[in-house]
Amino acid sequence: MTRKVVVLAETREQTLRNISFESIAAGKYISEGGEVVAVLIGESITPLANELFHYGADRVITIEDPLLRNYSSDGYTQALHSIIEKENPQSIIIGHTALGKDIAPRIAAKLDVGLISDVTEIELVGGNVIFTRPIYSGKAFEKKICTANPIFATIRPNNINPLQKDENRTGEIESLQTQVKDLRTVIKEVVRKTTEGVDLSEAKVVVAGGRGVKSPEGFEPLKELAEVLGGAVGASRGACDADYCDYSLQIGQTGKVVTPDLYIACGISGAIQHLAGMSNSKVIVAINKDPEANIFQVADYGIVGDLFEVVPMLTEEIKKLKL
Ligand code: FAD
Repeated sequence: MTRKVVVLAETREQTLRNISFESIAAGKYISEGGEVVAVLIGESITPLANELFHYGADRVITIEDPLLRNYSSDGYTQALHSIIEKENPQSIIIGHTALGKDIAPRIAAKLDVGLISDVTEIELVGGNVIFTRPIYSGKAFEKKICTANPIFATIRPNNINPLQKDENRTGEIESLQTQVKDLRTVIKEVVRKTTEGVDLSEAKVVVAGGRGVKSPEGFEPLKELAEVLGGAVGASRGACDADYCDYSLQIGQTGKVVTPDLYIACGISGAIQHLAGMSNSKVIVAINKDPEANIFQVADYGIVGDLFEVVPMLTEEIKKLKL
């Protein structure tokens, strides 16, 4: 059965986020040869449409409005809902990002359909779409067959590979003149936290510190290691609660979910709430003084030792490899 799939493209500072391409790939798979319609919402975003075609979108619908320059729950919900009503798709895919987690339940409620959230894998079996998603903070996975119409899911970033980029692919861009109105929230100004380096949620390498780093200065060797690996620094809630770093770095059940190629946990015990945010990483390296630490249960490579000795040694060795 072919399906029309609407996917939401996400932008940040006038560039497309990877989740947009991952959503297109998921949409393409579910469409079974049908059409993937990517939706771009914002201001002056139409030039980004071509990149969506390069990654597999068949059609791009844009809604440009100065009121949509920054994300707002009611503004984006109105815009996306109007497109879904017009397109009447058989499936909707949104990223399980901060934005997606906010907008998807609102859209589901407006459409009066169910939503399968935080999907890590999609299969097609006998015409059915089967979604895999974590439960019990990532301790187990469940498979759900969705029979609703439309099939609506949010997909976890960094789990579904984007399609190969094809710069010769083009398609039709449709600009919709929907007027968003009666906004209950208006973003007056966006003040960004100054975070250095790579975006944590999209990083291929994450070096994370826990209470074991012992102070804000204790993060310095981790930052150096992250830098030589071209990665980002993350943290456990233990480290954030102790004021060693900002909460924007927190990984876990109540923080960010990351799935990098390489996750290096330094001085993190491996509480279930932390594992919920990183256990799907491709390769996990744990550095901990305590050989009984729970983090070693999920680690592919474990180093029992003092992080203040091990991390600088790793940094030096990696620097040598790069020479
Ligand atoms: P600890 O458990 O104190 O572990 C520190 C580790 O560092 C120890 O294993 C120790 O052996 C090691 N260590 C110490 N010194 C060194 C050294 N020099 N070298 C090497 N190793 C060293 N936690 C999260 O991380 N993310 C969440 O999103 C999250 N959400 C939560 C939600 C709820 C509702 C609750 C109840 C808790 C949540 N927590 C979360 C907290 C979680 O339960 C743990 O308390 C927290 O993860 C512990 O952080 P930690 O591993 O850094 O600290």
